[in-house]
Amino acid sequence: MQIVGYRNDEPALLVAEAGAVRRLSLAPGTELAYTLSERHCAGTIDGERHIACERDRSPYCELHTTPWSVANNRDSEAEHAIYLAAFAPAVFKVGVTRLERLETRLREQGADRAAHVRTVPDGRIARERETAIRVEHDITERVRVATKIQGFGEIIDENAWNDLLAEFDVRKQFTFDYGLDLDGRPLAETMLSGVVRGSKGRVLVLDHRGTTYAVDLRDLVGCEIDEGATDRELQASLDGFA
Ligand SMILES: [Zn+2]
Repeated sequence: MQIVGYRNDEPALLVAEAGAVRRLSLAPGTELAYTLSERHCAGTIDGERHIACERDRSPYCELHTTPWSVANNRDSEAEHAIYLAAFAPAVFKVGVTRLERLETRLREQGADRAAHVRTVPDGRIARERETAIRVEHDITERVRVATKIQGFGEIIDENAWNDLLAEFDVRKQFTFDYGLDLDGRPLAETMLSGVVRGSKGRVLVLDHRGTTYAVDLRDLVGCEIDEGATDRELQASLDGFA
């Protein structure tokens, strides 16, 4: 079995076995017991069929990587939203997406807060405005998943966020709650054993032997998996042994 993708809407991994693809649910409460083995290109999914690829590069080799411009609908003439997104405690980014995808896009990234600040006629203008906002307000266009995980279990710095919003003409604000109910920061790991607590964007949060882990689903894509909980030595929190 190989993990060949993931879905954010109803959190799930896509698992391929003998050419067929099925969903492995990541709904809260799901018990997972898999061991990861070697990782290679995740190949292609064509409907419910999987076309395997043995090339080493993961998650995708040169042939199976979707170009950024295609994945992001680069030349889209649809209306675009320009938004600000906040990740606890105080990491702020500017981004653009097709207007109809705004809330989906914010959830995909695991934003804690967001604000829609402008609507523009097409993707090209949206990217120009995005760059201008990045420079003018000194905020990033990209937040690494590792940076997001560092803020899991923390709350938004309201003052810093409101100070930023005051510089914009805010059309709509969003507040997201992913129901993770964390007491502290989970440990970042690449593993697939434990009980699902929930998902925040592409990060899966799992409880395993008294420790809470955060797993970037993208790091699982391409991994071969075997049934059975991992017996690999994982870093554990001290609380886990209390
Ligand atoms: Zn490939």
